[in-house]
Amino acid sequence: MLNFTVGPVMSSPEVCAIGGQQVPYFRTAEFSSIMLENEAWMRKLARAPQGSRAVFLTNSSTGAMEAVVMNCFTEKDHVLVINGGSFGARFAKLCEIHEIPHTDIVLQPGQKLTRAMLYAYDGQPFTGLLVNVDETSTGVLYDTQMIGEFCRKNHLFYVCDCVSSFLADSFDMAGCGADVMITGSQKVLACPPGVSIVVMAPRAVERVKQGHVKSMYFNLSDALTNMERGQTPFTPAVGILLQIHARLKEIDAAGGADAEVARVAAQAADFRRKIAGLPFAMVSQSPANGVTPLHPLHANAYDIFLTLKDHYGIWVCPNGGDLRDSVFRVGHIGCLTPEDNTTLVNALLDLQRKGML
Ligand SMILES: *Cc1c(COP(=O)(O)O)cnc(C)c1O
Repeated sequence: MLNFTVGPVMSSPEVCAIGGQQVPYFRTAEFSSIMLENEAWMRKLARAPQGSRAVFLTNSSTGAMEAVVMNCFTEKDHVLVINGGSFGARFAKLCEIHEIPHTDIVLQPGQKLTRAMLYAYDGQPFTGLLVNVDETSTGVLYDTQMIGEFCRKNHLFYVCDCVSSFLADSFDMAGCGADVMITGSQKVLACPPGVSIVVMAPRAVERVKQGHVKSMYFNLSDALTNMERGQTPFTPAVGILLQIHARLKEIDAAGGADAEVARVAAQAADFRRKIAGLPFAMVSQSPANGVTPLHPLHANAYDIFLTLKDHYGIWVCPNGGDLRDSVFRVGHIGCLTPEDNTTLVNALLDLQRKGML
């Protein structure tokens, strides 16, 4: 199997090997020390400000998005949602469900967020901002620095969903002033799905601790208290946390966030160079490194996904909703190499020869 989706992605042999072992009991000093190392690496890789904390939740990253919305905002807030695709729409839906007043900045698929579009909301009584830094459905990367300046000027509590962009596009949590950063196990961390991570700057820790969330499982204050001793309130996905530990150690030893971002960027550039002559239009006006959404000019995008899967053993990522037939995506995250790109491009050339592209 050759997997170019955007999660779950290909894992390294070390990570796979841990998945084949027995899962240990976790209320031990040994597991606590692994968790505290995980937390320290996460803070470092996110460039989180002094006094930040990280917690590990056992749920997919949408659970972390929901926990953050529930723990950081109330019906007294009014948040801006950058809604440029299905993940932006997910934040908007979470605000609806939890009755958080929100205004969406709606973008067309692939559209870049400009300064002018953002500053149309300047000086108005908003209290927070939610953004998916890489809107993975269309591969649009938003400018976290520009948004951060806007948030600082307008005193907005700033939440960055970096689920697919963390370690694929450079992110400086302290530099851009984000209060919260969310990511998950199955994207650039290239581990199985099931764990999401919430990094909180001091202002977010404070807010979460003073909140009164009506939830037992999504209580971030409880998660923070348990994490002081390297533990979680309930049984976590212990095996995945051990895999994350191995992976974070590997990333740190290989040069940290910058080196991993450079590796993903090179993988993306190599692919984009190799498909230059093929009949595709690029979708994103502001391409993120993690994924390349492609619009086939003469073929159905979903059919390409099915043919590659069924006849070539290669998985690209289909799009859902309105873009199902017109866009598919090629991921550059996980344990992939430029040779793997060549394998995919050769399969696409073969489809072209057969008149299927
Ligand atoms: C993958 C992803 C998520 C989370 O998806 P889950 O299926 O819940 O893990 C959230 N936001 C973005 C931007 C993503 O790419």
